[in-house]
Amino acid sequence: MADYDCDLFVIGAGSGGVRAARLVAMTGARVMVAEEYRVGGTCVIRGCVPKKLMVYASDFKREFEIARGYGWVDCEPRFDWKKFLMTKDREIARLSGIYTSNLANAGADILYGTARFLDPHTLEVKGEEGTRTVTAGKILIAAGDRPTRPDLPGIEHTITSEEAFHLPELPKTMVIVGGGYIAIEFACIFHGLGVDVTLVYRGPNLLRGFDEDVRAHLADELRLRGLNVLLSCQHQKIEKRADGTLVSHLTDSLTVESEVVMFATGREPHVKTLGLDKAGVKLNDKGAIAVDDFSRTNVEHIWAVGDITDRMPLTPVAIREAQAFAETEYYGRPTQFDHAEVPTAVFSQPPVGAVGLSETQARHLHREVDIYLTKFRPMRSGFAGGDERMLMKLVVARATGKIVGCHIVGVDAPEMIQLAAIAVKAGLTKAQWDSTCALHPTAAEELVTMHEKYVPAELAAAE
Ligand code: NDP
Repeated sequence: MADYDCDLFVIGAGSGGVRAARLVAMTGARVMVAEEYRVGGTCVIRGCVPKKLMVYASDFKREFEIARGYGWVDCEPRFDWKKFLMTKDREIARLSGIYTSNLANAGADILYGTARFLDPHTLEVKGEEGTRTVTAGKILIAAGDRPTRPDLPGIEHTITSEEAFHLPELPKTMVIVGGGYIAIEFACIFHGLGVDVTLVYRGPNLLRGFDEDVRAHLADELRLRGLNVLLSCQHQKIEKRADGTLVSHLTDSLTVESEVVMFATGREPHVKTLGLDKAGVKLNDKGAIAVDDFSRTNVEHIWAVGDITDRMPLTPVAIREAQAFAETEYYGRPTQFDHAEVPTAVFSQPPVGAVGLSETQARHLHREVDIYLTKFRPMRSGFAGGDERMLMKLVVARATGKIVGCHIVGVDAPEMIQLAAIAVKAGLTKAQWDSTCALHPTAAEELVTMHEKYVPAELAAAE
């Protein structure tokens, strides 16, 4: 490929792009990476990492409350948003710096600017320091996705999660729109930080696609913690008053006033500025780049990984897709990433962890399933007088006895589900889970001590 400026050109220095660029550069191939904002991408700069820091920050409020129940007195702390922002931004800059030097150490060149195709092998990178044209033998598109908002009157007065990371002041009141990961996580974060939050969701229950028991339990727990949740409710318009107050005009003539309105109504593949038509790269019906199981697009020398393909927009998935691409194309080991049994977590308060099938999906796929479900007051908060309840649910395919779904709502659910995912991925049976000795006293021990099949109250009454 000596005729090209580089062997591999990567568009986007996020989780997927950085992993692929590093692995490929380490083979001695000439790699260039274009990044239009900061190295690290959504996950590091304005996604998972700063979000998790905000989750930690907001969780302390409850920790102080629990501490009082354990005999700690005079716990009346005050939260300093500006101090937190400063420390958080310093940490993000540090991580971005590590990603940048990892790329450089592997031998990849970073070009700062927006990349777009001029033809199938030529890209233009336009940045603050000018415009450069580069030719490449192979190209990997890993440009991620961006927030999307519905076109409503007054939508220009609203923010998305991207701005929520940098609010100059912590508002007193906030309306957050959506019922997915971002809306719920940010509603809990700001509620925990003392903001009066109203969560507005158009559907009958939050987290569409998750197990129904999880959805119902989470909504109950959020309300128990004092979050105002409005379901089956939608915005008609947003009005801005002269004093800056925003008025959300909702279904059934309901209005809610707030200082900030944040829309978390999904993200769309970041394809608009790429000039894909110049390269002949095709999109699928969801507007994402269409790829096969090896992340190949319809153009022989162009691949795409991560959120821009909208297969499963999660950081570890983008990393594994990128790794599979590098293994296949540069290490002589054809590799496909298996998108089944990927664990996922919603860092709400309480958090949700899930792996495998929901009960509904399992009934559809396996027809006969057994359910094991428990709800209990966790010891730690229960001792301090807290009413919160934890939910654990196992979905078992009756024919094989295998656990095909595991769902947890409650403290540490994401940590537990990462480990449970090993067993679900390995296809272990309920009997094998049960043969594992409990570790006492933990909440997680419930996962191996659920012996009675669960029959919902309404079914039990009918029998
Ligand atoms: P989601 O797809 O999870 O949720 C979008 C929400 O907005 C849904 O509840 C949807 O409703 C609602 N919605 C969509 N359009 C409208 C509209 N016009 N009016 C009102 N409501 C609307 O997207 P997010 O933005 O929350 O997150 C994007 C992706 O990022 C997630 O799918 C996830 O993969 C990833 N992510 C992962 C995280 C994690 O791993 N913890 C954290 C954050 C993001 P409906 O359900 O009815 O369609």
